[in-house]
Amino acid sequence: MPKKIFVTRQIPDVGLKMLRDKGYEVDVRDKDSMPTSRELVKALKRKPYDAVVSSWPEPIGAEVFDRFPSVKIYANFTIGYDNIDIAEAKKRGITVTNAPALSATEAVAEHAIALMLALAARIVEADEYVRRGKYKGWAAMDFIGTDVLGKTLGLIGAGRIGGRVAHYARGLGLKVIYNDVVRNMNLENDCGAVYRASYEEVLREADVVSLHVPLLDSTKHLINEKRLQVMKPTSFLVNTSRGPVIDEQALVVALKDKTIAGAGLDVFEFEPKLAPGLVKLQNVILTPHIGSASVTARNEMSTMVAENIINFFEGHVPKNVVN
Ligand code: NAD
Repeated sequence: MPKKIFVTRQIPDVGLKMLRDKGYEVDVRDKDSMPTSRELVKALKRKPYDAVVSSWPEPIGAEVFDRFPSVKIYANFTIGYDNIDIAEAKKRGITVTNAPALSATEAVAEHAIALMLALAARIVEADEYVRRGKYKGWAAMDFIGTDVLGKTLGLIGAGRIGGRVAHYARGLGLKVIYNDVVRNMNLENDCGAVYRASYEEVLREADVVSLHVPLLDSTKHLINEKRLQVMKPTSFLVNTSRGPVIDEQALVVALKDKTIAGAGLDVFEFEPKLAPGLVKLQNVILTPHIGSASVTARNEMSTMVAENIINFFEGHVPKNVVN
């Protein structure tokens, strides 16, 4: 019997082809949006699927596991896997994998740097100004921004993505400090990043704070009202990790009050909804969770998902098991 795979939304063909070339039966939901719980259950009821290719933020936990015991592996298409109840999966012997493609790591790191530079050079405000026909000629005092050369980048979370951001930032002439639950000696040796023992030390010292932690109980609202007040009034906050790492309402207040100078956000606490007041602010740049959305990254993620499933069914431990 061929293995049956259900893919919850559109992903690049390359991985689907790999699965089909193995003789697997691959059913892809024909929408790009997140399936509702009802849609997911309806789809999974159609066949005794052996594997599901899921994507963040589709919530998958005990109820789905109990209802569809034939599914032995959930291969998440994304790097973050906080949409899956890992502990419940482990209890039932269900394998969960993610897709931490190197090119996706690079893409998110580049996006974080892009947000930092766009904030510093006021790119979005200036673009809007020109489009609205307000540009009447060069003026020495217009749109004065901030230099990044010689400034300090503070990373919270210095794993794969944080590490790449550190390298880019060093190339741009920033000093890098970081906090992580695990000290990253490679980063310290390779790009002179300096460890700080607390979040507060990073927040107090950094001109740009960039967040690269996973969403966990310990990281929810890691940036809250109190910690925003520790940051410099001239500083920028960049978040390409997960929305709930920041208390978004507290951030709106801090941006309004100029407690900090600006923020660049690719992720939101109640995605796709935004905290009231956020869109009205000039000192924030908003992108719709596109950190890893490059052609190379998406294709590599698709390939990784397929490799994880193939390895699993061929009796090997998939490379990207997370539980
Ligand atoms: P990673 O696991 O390589 O690095 C995460 C780092 O955070 C680790 O070094 C870990 O020790 C550290 N950490 C964990 N808990 C911490 C805590 N409480 N305090 C301080 N440090 C802590 O993950 P990664 O590949 O660098 O990805 C980071 C996150 O980026 C992902 O979990 C995902 O949520 C997010 N992400 C977003 C996008 C996007 O499109 N914007 C794309 C990919 C990943």
